[in-house]
Amino acid sequence: MIIKFSNFADGVHQLEFQEKTEKIGLKQPFFDDLFLAVDMDKSHSQIVIKGNLSVKAKYICDRCDDEFVEELKNNFQITYFFTNQYTQKNEDVNLYYLSPEKDKIDLTNDVRDFALLAEPMKKLCKPDCKGLCYKCGANLNVEECNCEK
Ligand SMILES: [Zn+2]
Ligand SMILES: [Zn+2]
Repeated sequence: MIIKFSNFADGVHQLEFQEKTEKIGLKQPFFDDLFLAVDMDKSHSQIVIKGNLSVKAKYICDRCDDEFVEELKNNFQITYFFTNQYTQKNEDVNLYYLSPEKDKIDLTNDVRDFALLAEPMKKLCKPDCKGLCYKCGANLNVEECNCEK
């Protein structure tokens, strides 16, 4: 996911990427393709990237043990400043310094990180998953059992 920005005039440009998850270092539960839509705002002093990613992941539900697929989305913004006076390490993860000799930026590592950040803490096949009966193990999403609650 490399943008050779020297090919673009100043202004806002819309770019789209599609990449296999394993190619950008996303292992299971991620699978299939990752889609990334980018607004690149380029000027003589900086480049601002607004990214919109979407990727699919396969999970086992915490409550009912069923496998389910979730589409994960994340938005992010990264600013690249052109400067050759880069001295100290930059603490802001969404800000990079770019040497004026550079002609491209590589979004791959950031996109991977933002995909990982999109993972849910709780893995639920649906928000109101009823889970399994703790006595007989019936999946209460599909059947009612006769156990006492
Ligand atoms: Zn469930
Ligand atoms: Zn039961």
